[in-house]
Amino acid sequence: MTISVLDRNRAADAAHDLGDLHDAAAQVDDELLPCRTNNAELWFAETPADVEHAKSLCQGCPVQAMCLDGALERREPWGVWGGELFLQGVVIPRKRPRGRPRKNQNEVAA
Ligand code: SF4
Repeated sequence: MTISVLDRNRAADAAHDLGDLHDAAAQVDDELLPCRTNNAELWFAETPADVEHAKSLCQGCPVQAMCLDGALERREPWGVWGGELFLQGVVIPRKRPRGRPRKNQNEVAA
């Protein structure tokens, strides 16, 4: 019972935070929001290069700080938010390429 009340309050807070971001974004010209002027799929890209590109585009966004704060509070499961890559609710430094890791990290691909 206590847990369900906490979860409901947390969900309401998250919705509020996302609403704040949408309100702030609505005050800004769409052309200033990189995730609205570029292909939104880039913010959920598969390749590390595309993810890094999305992160770099966020750097010029006028609502970047609010976007990042909200994503941290909501523990976003996936995607680039506020210039950072999220995975399972936490910021990770970079996306790993697909495939198994090399046995020797100093090994150079042929
Ligand atoms: S900071 Fe947020 S709102 Fe701005 S471009 Fe990045 S993901 Fe979009």
